Amino acid sequence: MNRYDTVTCEIDLDAPGKASGWIDLSHSDNRHDFGVIRSPIGVIAGGEGPTALVVGGNHGDEYEGQLITRRLFEALEPQDVAGRLILVPALNMPAVMARTRVSPLDGGNMNRVFPGATGQGPTRALAGFLNRHLLPRAGLVIDLHSGGGTTNYLDAAYLTLTGDPAQDRRGAALARAFGLPWTMVVGLGSTGGDLDSAALAAGCAMISCELGGMAQVSPQSLGHGWNGILNLLAHEGIVAPEATKRLATGPGCQTRFVDLGAGSRQVTAMRHALAEPLVELGDEVAEGQPVAKLYDLFDITQAPQVLTAPVAGRVLIRRRNGLVGHGDHLFVIGPEIAPEALDRRIG
Ligand SMILES: [Zn+2]
Repeated sequence: MNRYDTVTCEIDLDAPGKASGWIDLSHSDNRHDFGVIRSPIGVIAGGEGPTALVVGGNHGDEYEGQLITRRLFEALEPQDVAGRLILVPALNMPAVMARTRVSPLDGGNMNRVFPGATGQGPTRALAGFLNRHLLPRAGLVIDLHSGGGTTNYLDAAYLTLTGDPAQDRRGAALARAFGLPWTMVVGLGSTGGDLDSAALAAGCAMISCELGGMAQVSPQSLGHGWNGILNLLAHEGIVAPEATKRLATGPGCQTRFVDLGAGSRQVTAMRHALAEPLVELGDEVAEGQPVAKLYDLFDITQAPQVLTAPVAGRVLIRRRNGLVGHGDHLFVIGPEIAPEALDRRIG
């Protein structure tokens, strides 16, 4: 039995073969006072190779990762796996059940509370369980995101540059093996308390990604993620290349790197308005190019305000809804980074 705070898991994570069970969260409120909130966990162990931990449902309203993690458990048998796969398709199950980004139990955003804590609510308890019992077993951690209800992303991996050349070269190699169409390059600590930081601190290789968004399931994003994870697991010697060949529905992409760090800029509304986007996700825009018009909600005689691109680059993230308020981002635009420039930056 593995326990952390109010979280337990009864399955033997170190046994050979294929097994499944639950990560059980105890939470005593009106609805759950005599029971547990169960989140499934699967283990497929075929031999002595490395272990990958695959996580979906870190945010509850992101679905491609939940599906991919489930499909891995369904499709792979121990003979396909050289090492071990630990599969957690719905990490923040309270949020998954509520179809929300954060937990309805305590408002916790799972990807801001790592490495977790005891006595501070269910979201931190779940993060702490993963940090205590799963990260130490994993050589590689793959966290699958999909933008969430408000945003749509390019199908893109994250490459976190840590400043440690060896670690960054490893990260870039993982991104290339993952083979999503895009890889967004960010600096370390750009999002505090995320699983990426906890995994890197635990000495794991780490890759996370965004597969579309808008709380829908995109078959294209799902396909990119599915083929990507199979290619990555084969590249890392965890899944047999024959299994990847059998299960993949297409080849991986030669990923293109874009700057989501210091070189990127947000386009932000500063009034309550109806927004008309003039560019689409993935478009290349010039600096100063009009990207959106903001119409006053109530005064139809007022000319719209035109927002322009603060930097040249590609539209990496776009907002889903047209109704915006003060401080709402409409787009994030970031320039492409040539492969040689990335390699020079890593050193
Ligand atoms: Zn997410």
